[in-house]
Amino acid sequence: MRPPHLPLNRQRLIAPGPVEVEPQVLLELARPQPHHRSPEGIAALAEARAKLTALLGDPYDAVITTSSGTGAFEGALVSLTPEGAKVVNAQAGKFSERWGEMAQRLGYRTTLVAKPWGELLDPQEVADACRDAHTLLVTHSETSTGALHDLAAIAGAAKAQNPDLIVIADCITSYGVAELRPAEWGVDAVVSGSQKGTATPPGLGFVLFDPQVQERMVPATGRGFYLDLTRELRGQKAGNTPQTPAINLIVALSRALDRLLSVPREVLWAEKRRQADALVAAGEALGAPAWAARTSPAVAVLRPPAPLTGRQVAARLAEMGQRALPGQAPHEDTVFRVSTLGYADRYDALGIAGILEDAFASLGVPFTRGAAVSAAWRALGEG
Ligand SMILES: *Cc1c(COP(=O)(O)O)cnc(C)c1O
Repeated sequence: MRPPHLPLNRQRLIAPGPVEVEPQVLLELARPQPHHRSPEGIAALAEARAKLTALLGDPYDAVITTSSGTGAFEGALVSLTPEGAKVVNAQAGKFSERWGEMAQRLGYRTTLVAKPWGELLDPQEVADACRDAHTLLVTHSETSTGALHDLAAIAGAAKAQNPDLIVIADCITSYGVAELRPAEWGVDAVVSGSQKGTATPPGLGFVLFDPQVQERMVPATGRGFYLDLTRELRGQKAGNTPQTPAINLIVALSRALDRLLSVPREVLWAEKRRQADALVAAGEALGAPAWAARTSPAVAVLRPPAPLTGRQVAARLAEMGQRALPGQAPHEDTVFRVSTLGYADRYDALGIAGILEDAFASLGVPFTRGAAVSAAWRALGEG
């Protein structure tokens, strides 16, 4: 039996969003209320938009929506796709399924190209479906399965079939985390949200538009009003927003982006890769391998050893004050999900490996103490 000990210092968010937020970023939210039409408010919007573009690395124009990532995605879709057009949705998990449902509800002629959860999309299969399509919806980092789909190959093959195709990518957990080169890869609109890689509280969505695709944006013709991003982009470029933006969150976002922009993107991507690899290595050492063959640096989606279920592991972690997640329906029991997305460093990855050891030990899984932490160290390139 373990001796009694102090309660843990804090609850840890080790889920793939919302994520831990840097204390300095949270402090930005304690400032006196700024007005979004004041010189300070206008400057804050311009600054945050410029930093979003810098983090992307290509000269795309950012629109910040007051919504979660789903709202930003809907805005990108309705603003780039005329009524009744053909939309192809490549799906292999919960989030990519959402975009197909969204396109159907919005009345687009929707073709689904589906793979089972945990598998990888086949670029040629997706491309073949895009021959006569207007828009392709594709998810880069599928947070429900932990797969990092080959966005470069998918967008490349699809554009080779159909050069006029518009590619909208859900990069909600890959932006600022995984290698992402939209101009080179042929991605026209990149969508993300504040509570994922940019480590800001929830409430903001982002769309970064390729300069050329902006000429093809659908003017407001009944395709949404609040999420008409043609209007929004025009306004934000001129320094204002048609509606009241979540200006406090925009100020906080700007501060959070400073940390991510303090190193070259390649350094950031490699760091996040190693952290996620450390979680996968820790899982393997405990008999819980990754579900996907090509893993996302945003999240480790791990299959617990039978008879343990994903829900049991997530529940045990929650009892320990660690907010991880089970799989998403209908795969709650297939997997559990842990993550170093957001404000997390290499020692957080090592800490999570230790936490997993405690959880698995208390659930009766046999292993040698230190195995997961050692595996995590090796994945981090040490030891
Ligand atoms: C979180 C997430 C979403 C949904 O974003 P919200 O901000 O919750 O609307 C969509 N796609 C992926 C891949 C995600 O991880």
